[in-house]
Amino acid sequence: GITLHDIRKAYPGGPEVLHGVSLDIRAGEFVVVVGPSGCGKSTLLRLIAGLERCDRGEIVIGGRRANDLAPQNRDIAMIFQNYALYPHMTVRQNIAFGLELRGMPKAERNARAEAVARTLQLEAYLDRKPGALSGGQRQRVAMGRAMARNASTFLMDEPLSNLDNALRVAMRTEIKELHRALGATIVYVTHDQTEALSLADRIAVLKDGHLLQFGTPAEIYDTPADMFVAGFLGTPA
Ligand code: ATP
Ligand code: MG
Repeated sequence: GITLHDIRKAYPGGPEVLHGVSLDIRAGEFVVVVGPSGCGKSTLLRLIAGLERCDRGEIVIGGRRANDLAPQNRDIAMIFQNYALYPHMTVRQNIAFGLELRGMPKAERNARAEAVARTLQLEAYLDRKPGALSGGQRQRVAMGRAMARNASTFLMDEPLSNLDNALRVAMRTEIKELHRALGATIVYVTHDQTEALSLADRIAVLKDGHLLQFGTPAEIYDTPADMFVAGFLGTPA
């Protein structure tokens, strides 16, 4: 699991954007983080990934203090808000890229990329470049790049925000299936209320750098901590 204890973060020269956030994420759990634009969701993921350092507090990953652990030593794969694929590389190369950085031999990298592509139903596209793929296919390649690493934790920052509605619904099912199949811990950021309620084991509601509530969809829906949470995730008007 991942434990955040009283995390504070300010970007250099800026105001504090996380004001003491504590979260206890169980191994294998699907946690969805919601909250208005600018409340600190991406910052929270970047801290867990090790792409930013917190100013105060402690991050424990798998029982081990991780504050000073480099991103590549965290067994975490991140899918970014605007997933960037390498346009000059094929799907196969995009998926295998992180493995090359980790020194895996080429034959093994390609075998791994092909296995991941099968899982994501991308085998037919392995030799194409991202420019020749649909949005949903690109999104699956981004997912594949993270999956190829076989990480125990996936951080996903609004992975479906660029997709049309039909594709978003289909991908939601696929992500849920992926979670079941991999048994991985997932921390997932979204603006979408339906997505949050349907995917999450537990939902973390952030506002202005504070954690307002952390509970199951039912708990949050039935007993919102305050008016803000009720308005954000409660009974639709
Ligand atoms: P959104 O839903 O729009 O993606 P968010 O909840 O992910 O928003 P963050 O990106 O975590 O919000 O940003 C939190 C605050 O930190 C914002 O006020 C933002 O302007 C600021 N911020 C984010 N990244 C940086 C950065 N690299 N340097 C300085 N300030 C930053
Ligand atoms: Mg963000």
